[in-house]
Amino acid sequence: KLQGAQRQIPFARPDSLTKVYAITSGKGGVGKSSITANLAAALSRRGLKVGVVDADIYGFSIPRMLGASDEATVIDQMIVPPEAHGVKVISIGMFVPDGQAVVWRGPMLHRALQQFLADVYWGDLDVLLLDLPPGTGDVAISIAQLLPHSDILVVTTPQVAAAEVAERAGSISSQTEQHVAGVIENMSYLPQEDGSRLELFGSGGGQMVADHLSTQLGYSVPLLTQIPIDIRLREGSDQGTPVAIAAPDSPAAQALDVVAEKL
Ligand code: ADP
Repeated sequence: KLQGAQRQIPFARPDSLTKVYAITSGKGGVGKSSITANLAAALSRRGLKVGVVDADIYGFSIPRMLGASDEATVIDQMIVPPEAHGVKVISIGMFVPDGQAVVWRGPMLHRALQQFLADVYWGDLDVLLLDLPPGTGDVAISIAQLLPHSDILVVTTPQVAAAEVAERAGSISSQTEQHVAGVIENMSYLPQEDGSRLELFGSGGGQMVADHLSTQLGYSVPLLTQIPIDIRLREGSDQGTPVAIAAPDSPAAQALDVVAEKL
């Protein structure tokens, strides 16, 4: 059971030195969680102190992808987050019995998120990543309220239909104080043996989202990277060893590290 006092959220303080990024997408299955996990691992590999809040309530998967324990201990009403590859992780999945679905309404989610931010021993983090559920639902709104100065990273595939929904997820920031730091295009192409690129899901989606959000928001939203389809990325996620750690020289890990360098 999550209980505890109403503590202040350290990341919401004006003098907080932790950079906070909420990672969002229009729809599921575009690789948002894989990117969050790998970005966290890549940042940790660069020597930064990193935390991840898995706020993808209906599809929580970060602990497995990072190979972190799916249990958190509670000491003196504070939650001790499990750690993997130097990354501290907290997930909704740690607070629901195995096999049970999360059937929480907005206010309960809000309270849980507040506790993940305020009642966890995070220590001094350089970067906090939040894996949001796809779309513009309760969690995205709660995060905008709890962490108004968080930046948003939008994940999309190159497919135009996917890009259009991703854009909506990014444009939520026009109604909040949040800043969209950039767009990440995933599954951009499948590298071929002859060096060519097979564009399985078409092309242009990432750039399209970046361009449209730039126009809509009135500042430059860059396309940060294009991540190829890489079986090692999928395997790494399944095995709990992110490709950023298992094969840092692979094209997918390199494309992710470009983002880690910019954050
Ligand atoms: P989301 O969080 O957007 O629902 P996931 O991160 O769970 O998406 O990714 C969906 C599936 O696609 C996972 O099985 C993941 O391992 C796989 N995947 C994601 N990105 C890639 C990639 N670049 N190459 C290969 N597999 C990928």
